[in-house]
Amino acid sequence: MKILVINCGSSSLKYQLIDMDNESVIAKGLCERIGIDGGHVEGKTSDGREYDLEINLPNHTVAFHKVKDALLEGDCKVIDSLDEITAIGHRVVQGGALYNQSVIVTPEVIRDIDKLSALAPLHNPAHIQGINACTEVFGNEKPQVVVFDNAFHSTMPKYVYSFAIPQELAKKHAVRKYGAHGTSHKYLVERYAEMKGISLEGTKIITCHLGNGSSITAVKDGKCMDTSMSLTPLDGLIMGTRSGSIDASAVTFLQEHEHWTPEETSEFLNKKSGLLGVSGFSSDMRDNIEARNNGDENAKLATDMLFYQIRKFIGAYTAAMNGVDAIIFAGGIGENSIPTREAVIKELGWLGIKLNEEANDCRGKEIKISTDDSAVEVWVIPTNEELAIARDTKRLVETL
Ligand code: ADP
Repeated sequence: MKILVINCGSSSLKYQLIDMDNESVIAKGLCERIGIDGGHVEGKTSDGREYDLEINLPNHTVAFHKVKDALLEGDCKVIDSLDEITAIGHRVVQGGALYNQSVIVTPEVIRDIDKLSALAPLHNPAHIQGINACTEVFGNEKPQVVVFDNAFHSTMPKYVYSFAIPQELAKKHAVRKYGAHGTSHKYLVERYAEMKGISLEGTKIITCHLGNGSSITAVKDGKCMDTSMSLTPLDGLIMGTRSGSIDASAVTFLQEHEHWTPEETSEFLNKKSGLLGVSGFSSDMRDNIEARNNGDENAKLATDMLFYQIRKFIGAYTAAMNGVDAIIFAGGIGENSIPTREAVIKELGWLGIKLNEEANDCRGKEIKISTDDSAVEVWVIPTNEELAIARDTKRLVETL
């Protein structure tokens, strides 16, 4: 069975065609600058063929046609007919409190995703465009599934997801913690259980998805208990360009004194803060570590903030779950940044955690990086959100 996995942003479309018989990627690529000048499409196949096109992409439908063409014809052809693709799985950022699991797309589901756009104005409208464009290109009969980023977090207790504001108002605007990266956190704990040959029942795991966007999740008995992102992906850790948690009064203070509109404030916190804002030169962790090693004080501050905050969340979530059995690192930083993992783990001795420095000297592979006598296991597990989406899609279309 072949599944096409789609991740649509407002001006981008990423895809992967996955062979579910052996869970391998057949082809993947992305369309950029949809709806703006300078459209660009690129992709590659698992056997090493590549394509790269500069082409105007006025909308998502045109972008989908390009993806279809790339799969069906030309140098990177991987299928003879669209019939070979059994179903399409879409990533959807915000399912609000309406969806606690993946579902088959119906007109009602599309209406719900649209209703939830207020909570994810940059993402949900783009997902709908993607689903509609997909229907136009692949036809009404091709099953489509939506996998919600926050579904895994739907098990958070009310006292965790509620904000301490008048509840009538919170309810009126559906303002609460929803979390994000859920597909990744779920994949990580399930992969851990699979590797260890254990059930998640009775386990306490902290998953650290650290990339341009970063979040940490406390997972008890395989269910999310708390997560660092909140109403939006702005909350929690310092990120590439996002501030992470910040006193709300600092925000209103800056807004007032800098005479910002709400949009400007949002742009400031989401695009100009984080590692970029603190270092003053880059949102990229590699650049920041390199500059830190060369004595740059701002890069040192930015990276120290991240190291400290990761440790703080691990400490808080250990308390929240009354213990921890395993800590998992994933995402671009979690999988690749040896100094980040070292800085975090070396200060967790109070938990009886011992780092295996030799094992930690690795990038992008599945490995235990704690010693055998460490009280808590620490793992690096490369995340695979696309595969998780494809698995859910397969599971649901098999019920049709
Ligand atoms: P996104 O959240 O956009 O998916 P990624 O998960 O790809 O982002 O993570 C991007 C981050 O990972 C960047 O900060 C980048 O510097 C960092 N990263 C990637 N490779 C390395 C590496 N070898 N060492 C340190 N950081 C790395």
